[in-house]
Amino acid sequence: MSKAVNAYVERCKEIMGLSHWEVKVSDLQPDDDAWAEIEVSENLYQATIRFSKDLWKEKPEEIRRVVAHELIHIHQAGVERMVDALEKPLGTSAFEIVSHVWDVESERCADSLSTVMAKVLPMPGSGVK
Ligand SMILES: [Zn+2]
Repeated sequence: MSKAVNAYVERCKEIMGLSHWEVKVSDLQPDDDAWAEIEVSENLYQATIRFSKDLWKEKPEEIRRVVAHELIHIHQAGVERMVDALEKPLGTSAFEIVSHVWDVESERCADSLSTVMAKVLPMPGSGVK
């Protein structure tokens, strides 16, 4: 990924209270047809974001919102770890319910908050491709 994308994510990360996190931007594409996905380390302040090439064809406002969305997932990572830790104690059926609700609600939360959070982030420059 370009230096401009890395620099942009770094800037947004600082503003979003994640300055102690190392956020790497991968050259790989997201697994599905999403614009982006993030993988957060279980025990280190490290995360890796994968952006779709198609994201950079979107308007700067949308790119900014997607970056905010992915960085919000870092703030949610502790709860996600707790949900993952419940798999054994809950058993398959109960865990699938908890896991599904978490997946839906964490995405809703990231979508809602990213709309607001994006407004305090800088607009990605034309060099962010
Ligand atoms: Zn998401």
